[in-house]
Amino acid sequence: MHAIRPSRPLLLAALVALALAGCQRGGEPAATGTPAGDAGAPPSEEAPAPAASYGVQHAGDYATVPLEADLSAFDDDGKRMIALLVRASQVMDEIYWKQSWDGDREVLLARAPDTATRDWIELNFGPWDRLNGDAPMLPGIGPRPPGGVFYPADMDKAEFEAADLADKASWYTLLRRDDAGNLVTVPYHVAYKAELERAAGYLREAAELSEDEDFANYLAMRADALLDDDFRPSDMAWMDMKGNAVDVVIGPIESYDDQLFGYKAAYEGLVLIKDQEWSARLARFARFLPELQRGLPVDAKYKAEMPGSNADLGAYEAVYYGGNANVGAKTIAINLPNDEQVQLAKGTRRLQLENVMKAKFDTIMVPIAQQLIVEEQLDNVTFDAFFQNTMFHEVAHGLGIKNTLDGKGTVSEALKDQASSFEEGKADVLGLYMVGALADKGELDASKLMDNYVTFLAGILRSVRFGAADAHARANMVRFNFFAEQGAFSRDPESGKYRVDFEKMQAAIEALSRKLLTIQGDGDHAAAKALTDELGVIGDELAADLAKLEAAGIPIDVRFEQGLDVLGLEAP
Ligand code: ZN
Repeated sequence: MHAIRPSRPLLLAALVALALAGCQRGGEPAATGTPAGDAGAPPSEEAPAPAASYGVQHAGDYATVPLEADLSAFDDDGKRMIALLVRASQVMDEIYWKQSWDGDREVLLARAPDTATRDWIELNFGPWDRLNGDAPMLPGIGPRPPGGVFYPADMDKAEFEAADLADKASWYTLLRRDDAGNLVTVPYHVAYKAELERAAGYLREAAELSEDEDFANYLAMRADALLDDDFRPSDMAWMDMKGNAVDVVIGPIESYDDQLFGYKAAYEGLVLIKDQEWSARLARFARFLPELQRGLPVDAKYKAEMPGSNADLGAYEAVYYGGNANVGAKTIAINLPNDEQVQLAKGTRRLQLENVMKAKFDTIMVPIAQQLIVEEQLDNVTFDAFFQNTMFHEVAHGLGIKNTLDGKGTVSEALKDQASSFEEGKADVLGLYMVGALADKGELDASKLMDNYVTFLAGILRSVRFGAADAHARANMVRFNFFAEQGAFSRDPESGKYRVDFEKMQAAIEALSRKLLTIQGDGDHAAAKALTDELGVIGDELAADLAKLEAAGIPIDVRFEQGLDVLGLEAP
């Protein structure tokens, strides 16, 4: 066995981006897809016809899906409020363009050789293809500067380090040069003042229409924050608010675009409608955590800690992705806020974006299953199971143990570089354990358990699609190879497709749970590394099976048709 190089190494960037969006690495959902909408072009491949433009070559990379939601529960004021939040998020698109390309947008777009490439530039907020390692899409465009346009192009790290500027590492300042050529900082609320005033105006108007007082309060505070860059009070208010039916995540939030220092946040706006029913079910399941902890298939000493049962976790339909949220691989889950002071005071909230998961399931996961899961188990690959596996993965982070048995500190400190992949692996396998345990209690439909197992297997195949060159993909391979050794699934030699064995799968879930929890509790870094080295590899047989996916031209990610028209809302 060997750890294969990804056949398209740059695509790993897409997986990394997905992972960064949350703990999307485990057996979680994510990318999958068959061309939909206008993505009917041939699959993107190396060695394209020489004359094809970048846009034409890559037309199959994304499946196009509409961002829709049932808004019938909202009255006219509610709908107008949602429309205003979409408007505010569209302003984030404008600012994000300025944060992504240091020049005139129209001039850049005019350089595209055809509409396909023009479209690709719009989709990427600039001339670099985010799903393809920031490859330049136009002749004459150099590599993307690591610091983007957050810093002067001619500034190096040493000059930055030497600069005596108090707020140079702030998430909310740009570095620029004054007339004498010295570095200075420019606060975001100054640099983008005109746009931010418009966005704040929309938020304040929306606040007046909100039936929910807490949400109105948050919107007003967020409007203030956009205009002075002091986001902490509104982050606190966001964590305090619990009953709101609508949510908006807006402002400069993630700093992945700053590849020089990781300081500077990019603007985004996400408008979300809460799925009250699923959110209530999640709260109900979370209350079983103490009981499920006691039932874990491991020695008592490895489950002595008592988990909290108040995970702040909700399911949402996304109705608009603006700015940084709408570039490259699309997130299917959000875990915020990022401000550690707010985290210490209030914790974090995790938002699962159900309709985007569904879009990726339909367009990417199902086609992958059609290639690699035996015919008679294809019906077991269902969105409900996919969604459940993802949700229970999140809840399962609360199970197990946080401190090592020797009392020397946390599991995370002890396992070092192995810590996050073991934690994700634990959440994956204990998520399946939870589904089984809740089915035993009659909380879930036991007749659907096989769906969870087969869908889980399809999810692993999805997540290792581009190779196992990074830690999280290796963690997925540990699960795949461990289950294969236990006979939890087998490969049909004739079709080259995979089949789950129900009983052996249950036994393998218990065995792997025990192994991971034991290594975590012992804080045994050597054992963790040995397991990853032994099993975190893609065998030749699987590598050949994965090559079938490449040939099938399955999309890498999704792009959205979105906005007021798609939602059937009038312009506010
Ligand atoms: Zn996770």
